[in-house]
Amino acid sequence: MPTVAGVVGTAVIAAARFLTTASARLPRLHDSRRELTATERTTLDAVFRGGLDLDAITVVSGRAGVLDLSRRPVTLGTTIYLRGATSPGVLVHEAVHVWQYRDRGARYVVDALVAQASAAPYDWRAAGATRWRDLDVECQAQFVQDLHDGRVSPAHRALADDALATLALPPPRP
Ligand SMILES: [Zn+2]
Repeated sequence: MPTVAGVVGTAVIAAARFLTTASARLPRLHDSRRELTATERTTLDAVFRGGLDLDAITVVSGRAGVLDLSRRPVTLGTTIYLRGATSPGVLVHEAVHVWQYRDRGARYVVDALVAQASAAPYDWRAAGATRWRDLDVECQAQFVQDLHDGRVSPAHRALADDALATLALPPPRP
């Protein structure tokens, strides 16, 4: 029985796919859809250690049609719209969203919208969680990005270990 959040999430993903496909057909918008590069795979392998199917990820590094209305990179399902971002930490952040999508299904989209609307989105320190799964989806992704970028102090070692152990577990198959 699909949840309401799952149904809404699926509809959001379908609508976004339609809009990006439709707008990418405009001649001045360049859709640079590609697989991960070898360097990007090495970066993600160090974080996910087999817990994420890297072959399933598509990267759009250039313009993303209507999604350019948002200023941050965006991940929909297994497609990462980098929107010009080149930092490995940002790629790690977005790849965590792919992992969450595989873990939660389309409900992830609604969870992300709720997280982005919170008072302090991305502020995992303020959340005070001791388990990585207790963070909301944006705080989870930001924590792993900060961990990758060396911005997590030893005081958060247990949370880091928990995050890496969780990410290395392959999500359940739907
Ligand atoms: Zn995010």
